[in-house]
Amino acid sequence: MKTLSKSLLLLAGAVLSSPPALAQPVCGSGIALQLLGSGGPISDDARASSGAVIWINGKARLLIDAGGGTYLRFGEAGARLEDVDFIGVSHFHTDHVADLPAILKGGYFLSRSHKVALVGPTGNANFPSMTAFFSREFSEGRGAFSYLSGLSNASDGLHLAVHPTDVAVAKAMRSKVWQGDGVTVYALGIPHGDVPALAFRIETPKGVIVLSADQNGSRKEFIDFARGADILMMPAAIDDNADEQSRFLHATPTVVGKIAAAVNPKVLVLDHFMGRALRDKDHNVQIIRSFFKGRVVAGRDLSCFPL
Ligand SMILES: [Zn+2]
Repeated sequence: MKTLSKSLLLLAGAVLSSPPALAQPVCGSGIALQLLGSGGPISDDARASSGAVIWINGKARLLIDAGGGTYLRFGEAGARLEDVDFIGVSHFHTDHVADLPAILKGGYFLSRSHKVALVGPTGNANFPSMTAFFSREFSEGRGAFSYLSGLSNASDGLHLAVHPTDVAVAKAMRSKVWQGDGVTVYALGIPHGDVPALAFRIETPKGVIVLSADQNGSRKEFIDFARGADILMMPAAIDDNADEQSRFLHATPTVVGKIAAAVNPKVLVLDHFMGRALRDKDHNVQIIRSFFKGRVVAGRDLSCFPL
């Protein structure tokens, strides 16, 4: 017993004295999409929920969505908060935004202040807008994380000045939401049942990346928005036999396949797998491939797609 306790202590000491090295970025030195999470809203898929970073010249400059688990994957990817200039939130389901406060809290530990644009959808009776969400999380005195109220202006020990903006989801035309280093980001409302939601289009000198979050695929303007994409990311949340409510929220494999065929990207990346969708993954990918003849990749956490 005594020996066992001693060896446990030695083991604990070894762990404490040898923290893991900081992850080095491995997702290319140019421009690339890296998934942080490829899973859905249930923990039955052993994956982080939705989130991705865009690497620009070796830095993770853009973060799109921050669902549960992406906080951990962000660090594992070698991404650094001080490099992030733009955060896009597709919608306010937990699997797309739950880790946002945890990631932003890192602003306490930066050596110098910088600005971050935070862009999300307008709200409705059931969901907040981006600005309302930010206020409910971080406003002084009233926010759930009031102790992080300095995030609004890089004060109170925080070295991030986060500027939230709402993008009207009903707007017919795309909105330009960020520009820097030859990269331009656009947003467009997408139909995710009655949940206000946005897709993001990232135009870079090396090509175009379009990230669709959850949507049922019924808005034809999305095809024009996504046209010319080298990489198109679409959720693969449900199967073709899903019930009506699920199809009101999500696109079936048939719908994803038809959208991909119309957009015709160089690669279609699938994410947002839930336990059930993982079991049906091969079959669903087969359905998608019956419509879209290009390259289809079922994404995993930390999958990297250079342009
Ligand atoms: Zn959703």
